[in-house]
Amino acid sequence: MAGHRDLKFVTYPISQPDENGECLINWIADVKFDHHAEWNREDYNRKGKPEDFLPGFEDWKFDWLDIPSLIRNASAIFEFPMIDRDPLERWSFSKVTLLGDAAHAMYPIGSNGASQAIIDARVLGKYFRTLGCNETALKAYDEERRPVTNAVVLANRGDGPDQVLQVIEQRCGGRFDKVEDILSPVEMAKMAADYKKTAGFDVDILNNAPSILGKFDD
Ligand SMILES: Cc1cc2nc3c(=O)[nH]c(=O)nc-3n(C[C@H](O)[C@H](O)[C@H](O)COP(=O)(O)OP(=O)(O)OC[C@H]3O[C@@H](n4cnc5c(N)ncnc54)[C@H](O)[C@@H]3O)c2cc1C
Repeated sequence: MAGHRDLKFVTYPISQPDENGECLINWIADVKFDHHAEWNREDYNRKGKPEDFLPGFEDWKFDWLDIPSLIRNASAIFEFPMIDRDPLERWSFSKVTLLGDAAHAMYPIGSNGASQAIIDARVLGKYFRTLGCNETALKAYDEERRPVTNAVVLANRGDGPDQVLQVIEQRCGGRFDKVEDILSPVEMAKMAADYKKTAGFDVDILNNAPSILGKFDD
């Protein structure tokens, strides 16, 4: 990850290295536009155009990574608007409820949209098992999951775990020799831990929690 809230680049390998030591790479170039910029907000998976965002990264050539070259050599580029929805006050209405993005569309930061949708499904399953497939179960599911996921929506709006980049940017304009001189490992660990707690991914809490769905006899 490099950059800050207004201009950020995230990249990681998504395959094992081949015989030449090369991997398939996924990258995300995150650019903030003016709020009034013409923007097709609701449309996902459009073909992206490098000229829309490459200029911002043109001089991001490090001795360990050449970002403009990574962008120019991409086999495919897709564009996603970074949008979310305000937290809702209610998900369950009579025999209908919401789950996943329909219930809590969030900024895709912190690998949480799909993860939270999966937890929604498990909690809904828990209440179907314990209360039956009825409106009471939908209400109990709503009451348990909505506050938790609403907190993640708001945390992601504040940049979620990526806020470390912005703090470093504010402290030194992004220029440093050792990042630990700017943000101590303790501060860094605390920011990561706070977000994990909000998202329910604190390792100790998770490891000590019982299975959401409970035990199955067969
Ligand atoms: C750039 C980006 C990166 C992301 N990275 C991550 C990540 O690393 N980790 C993570 O956990 N999440 C990530 N997410 C979020 C994740 O993709 C979503 O949270 C997740 O896909 C939501 O799943 P869903 O099933 O609720 O909704 P969707 O995936 O939107 O599924 C809804 C489905 O319903 C269909 N549909 C809509 N209307 C109708 C209709 N009337 N009839 C029938 N079908 C209909 C749609 O076509 C779609 O297939 C990312 C999102 C983006 C945009």
